[in-house]
Amino acid sequence: MLRRLRQWRRRRLLERHALPAAVVAEIYGQLPVLASLNPSERERLVELATLFLAEKRVIGAGGLEPDLGMAVTVALQACLPVLNLGLDWYRGFTTIILYPGDFVARHHYQDELGLEHLDELPMVGEAWEGGPVVLSWADVAGSGELDGFNVVIHEFAHKLDMCNGEANGHPPLHEGMNRQAWTLALSGAYEALCETLDAGEEPALDPYAAESPAEFFSVVSEAFFELPGGLAEVCPEVYRQLVLFYRQDPWRRLSGRPV
Ligand SMILES: [Zn+2]
Repeated sequence: MLRRLRQWRRRRLLERHALPAAVVAEIYGQLPVLASLNPSERERLVELATLFLAEKRVIGAGGLEPDLGMAVTVALQACLPVLNLGLDWYRGFTTIILYPGDFVARHHYQDELGLEHLDELPMVGEAWEGGPVVLSWADVAGSGELDGFNVVIHEFAHKLDMCNGEANGHPPLHEGMNRQAWTLALSGAYEALCETLDAGEEPALDPYAAESPAEFFSVVSEAFFELPGGLAEVCPEVYRQLVLFYRQDPWRRLSGRPV
């Protein structure tokens, strides 16, 4: 009964909030990161993006007034990681804030001595636990080019990581996945990256991944969708764990290898 009710609600939302096909086709064509999806995956992604925009709102800040094309650009890329997981993974927040470019995030924090500090950092994206995802439109527009950079996937990977509390590089794993194998793969690669940087050597991954295990997970998620062959080559165990977690294999998709 509940399942049927959910399906009915889904159908109704899809009908009521259907996105103009011409806009979807135009944006889709501008995003090489989506080009390797087969027709049924593409259809499912557009459905997810439609439901995403029906449930959430994309609002502007810093003088930007997002148009439908901008909202669709965010939604299609945000839904790629959950293509085989479902939108429930993005429960608990409703707002995506778009700035025209870099924005300054102000973070108050207390140090061990109890002293108050204020950090003001220029950011291109930010995901709040239980709150909005904030993105720089200039960087969203530069995402999806299969070059390893994707601020949308990066911030929404933090959201997946937050499904079981503070982002720490350990999102909830699916039944049948092995927590030890996940930790071994991701922590091992994280520590190896930190050692490479400490030794002053050239890292194979974006050095920003060494900021914390949470950033590591988001950066390798970007690479997983944007440069999957490169990630599979330099961190094969991480790649394998991400295939299990995201339930998709972008490298196989891009290289046209049979499933
Ligand atoms: Zn991050």
